[in-house]
Amino acid sequence: MVLHSGQSRRPESRGGSNPFFGGTDPALAASVSPPHKRLADQPVPPDTALQVVRDELMLDGNARLNLATFVTTWMEPQAGQLMAECVDKNMIDKDEYPQTAELERRCVNILADLWHAPDPSAIMGCSTTGSSEACMLAGMALKRRWAKLGRTGKPNLVMGVNVQVCWEKFCEYWEVEPRLVPMEGDRFHLTPEQAVEHCDENTIGVVAILGSTFDGSYEPVAEIVAALDELQERTGWNIPVHVDGASGAMIAPFLDPELVWDFRLPRVASINTSGHKYGLVYPGVGWVIWRDQEALPSELVFNVNYLGGEMPTFALNFSRPGAEVAAQYYTFVRLGREGFRVVQQASRDVAMDLAQRIAQLGPFELLTKGDQLPVFAFTTKPDVQAFDVFDVSRRLRERGWLVPAYTFPANRTDLAVLRVVCRNGFTHDLAALLCEHIEHYLPELAAQSGPRHSPATSTSFHH
Ligand SMILES: *Cc1c(COP(=O)(O)O)cnc(C)c1O
Repeated sequence: MVLHSGQSRRPESRGGSNPFFGGTDPALAASVSPPHKRLADQPVPPDTALQVVRDELMLDGNARLNLATFVTTWMEPQAGQLMAECVDKNMIDKDEYPQTAELERRCVNILADLWHAPDPSAIMGCSTTGSSEACMLAGMALKRRWAKLGRTGKPNLVMGVNVQVCWEKFCEYWEVEPRLVPMEGDRFHLTPEQAVEHCDENTIGVVAILGSTFDGSYEPVAEIVAALDELQERTGWNIPVHVDGASGAMIAPFLDPELVWDFRLPRVASINTSGHKYGLVYPGVGWVIWRDQEALPSELVFNVNYLGGEMPTFALNFSRPGAEVAAQYYTFVRLGREGFRVVQQASRDVAMDLAQRIAQLGPFELLTKGDQLPVFAFTTKPDVQAFDVFDVSRRLRERGWLVPAYTFPANRTDLAVLRVVCRNGFTHDLAALLCEHIEHYLPELAAQSGPRHSPATSTSFHH
């Protein structure tokens, strides 16, 4: 979470909120003010507390117009109800809540099946708070497996510079050298040649991303695996692959059944996904699955017995609500394979259609078309001098749209893009409105004497 430092510079609120808040007692209203720095001396009635907190939260954005995030912003009311019923269940307390644990087990099995685990009885898997925790666990397993080889150098992990920040965190926290393969020209993600070139005997694994947060493209997992097979023949180094399928592992099984990226490739040791992205569940739930017990060294697994049962666990945290796991199981029950296919196809259709419309506006060119993840990135054509992507992003904010603009990492820091993430609930109608709004601003943007905003500052969160 955001690491907050010290006291905010804002002056303490002067107190005395809406006179209605006190009910029949104006003195009470005067005493109610949202505490900023220390607890108030006295309690307030629950309705008042609710109103105070709700009023503050009004300032948050409209999640449905947020095209920056991959995270689910709408579920059916039935799912919300189920989650409300489960918030008091502690995931770790598998003895008290054996059925929640059972639903978690079923979700793991369902995902292992979607990802073509060759031996379903051999897999190991668990839920997490999201893909970040899942990636930490997968990275720890890779590191431990490497450590057991008895090599002496510093461990390294090979991946494209387009990895999500969680992999840089993993490397920093667990003291692994990140080998980030830079972008070059119009290569915006990891290729087999580059992956192999960066490997040596201390490489704990290669991370392949399905798909990249920067532009929505799938990395060529099968080709990376083939190159590593060839590397093993030459050198004897047996380097496992982890697939970061935070988004794509819930898209490809339904929309790209022919694409071989998962446990069908023997070198793929583990896969993660975010249940709260295209798994269609509110935050925060993620999943990670290992092909077999060899891929997950048993020392990393702790047996928890002091809540009554005897349960193997692998997690960074301990207590966690069971609601998200119940909600994930709900989406599996609710949609089935065909339901998932239809929902994901709708997102991809909207993405591809919107990308084409934007390309036809004139000043923009597409980096991706939305035909892999339902996500695409675009930039201004080289001859556009009057404005840049940051200007477009800021103008769209005036209409409530959150479309992030950001620069790419090394070696394409010269390239700045806008990115649109199409999620369930972002319809063709809304997409048409967005396109109209962009078109509406174009004459004003074209009349600028040059870009207004410094590209040094990205306009919004884009991971
Ligand atoms: C979002 C994302 C993550 C982090 O996932 P959280 O569920 O938000 O922790 C990791 N990798 C990729 C490729 C992502 O898109």
